[in-house]
Amino acid sequence: MTQYPFALYIHVPFCAQKCPYCDFNTYATPKAPEAEYVEALRKELRLYAEDPRLRGRAISTIFWGGGTPSLLSPGAIESVHAEARQLFGVEEGAEVTLEANPSEPDRDRYAGYCDAGVNRVSFGVQSFAPKRLALLGRDHSAEDARRAINLCVEAGISNVSLDIIFGVEEQTIEDLEYDLEVAAALPITHISTYALTIEPGTPFFQRQERGLLATPPDDLVASMLEFIPTYLARHGFSRYEISNYCRGLARSQHNEAYWLGRDYLGIGAGAHSYVARGEGARRVGGVRWSNLALPASYMKAAETETPVSWREELSPESMHFEFFYLGLRRVDGVSMNDFERLFGVSARTLYGRALQELAAEGFVRDDGDIISLTSSGIALADSVYERFLR
Ligand code: SF4
Repeated sequence: MTQYPFALYIHVPFCAQKCPYCDFNTYATPKAPEAEYVEALRKELRLYAEDPRLRGRAISTIFWGGGTPSLLSPGAIESVHAEARQLFGVEEGAEVTLEANPSEPDRDRYAGYCDAGVNRVSFGVQSFAPKRLALLGRDHSAEDARRAINLCVEAGISNVSLDIIFGVEEQTIEDLEYDLEVAAALPITHISTYALTIEPGTPFFQRQERGLLATPPDDLVASMLEFIPTYLARHGFSRYEISNYCRGLARSQHNEAYWLGRDYLGIGAGAHSYVARGEGARRVGGVRWSNLALPASYMKAAETETPVSWREELSPESMHFEFFYLGLRRVDGVSMNDFERLFGVSARTLYGRALQELAAEGFVRDDGDIISLTSSGIALADSVYERFLR
């Protein structure tokens, strides 16, 4: 397996401010410690260049996530790319994504990212309505988001994605339609939509506990879930994954690598990695690990060793399930032939009964080689996945 490329994820755990719903590993700071952090990222890459699991393998995609990677300068981004190119090699035409906050639209900065090798930008827009932006505690306006997207395209990065959050307090279907309508009129290639979840430890969680935050009823959120693909399809976006839509072929190649169970290395504070162990083309096990979450601890540890906080050996059984359920997130579904080729066991042997029942109940489509979720299955995806664990 070792000749296959791997995906590189780079975590930047800094934000100008912390949004009240966010439980990502990120810290509000007036100024990110760019030089020290980038040096730690480069050191971490050098440590993995010696790792026999990754040595000699090229990078297929790069994804700068966060946090707010656009707090880093184009020069800082380029210096990590240069290290990655030198140590591993980056495949020709590789997708290189940068997550960006639209709070300070800046054409020159986007042109700098383009020169640094970034060819896809994902903007955290969340909504175009002032009321919802305020409720979500966002530090940008709808006009900032429009300008940022237009300037980014003008600066030479035409593959642009944006995130929309739905299921926000007092939001109606018409409100959601407004956000999607504005988004679809912009020169973007991709939209990710997420239902707002109230995570423990966040200010939203505390507000909800005190009865100060209401979320829309479940049946309204379910209607929104149904509305989004229908509306976006009418505006040229096809759904290719439960939460993701693209124009033409502009799928997120990096995220496709996750859903297809491919190897990825995550560097940066709190980043996760996953590397399968193989014999020939077959996977016989694997390992997953996560980095130290606090930026200061991460940067200190990376000076001398890989800054890992925990590691988990993966059994073949857990890898089977993960491959199967992540594959079902994709509209293309899971290929039973690919499954057997990778794991040496038939998915029908492992999940035959659940598959038969779910197909009879209308949640799963079974086309022989390809297993995929129906629209009812997508609406109840989490319950469907559980059935494969029984
Ligand atoms: S900008 Fe994004 S990563 Fe940062 S706090 Fe807000 S939601 Fe979280």
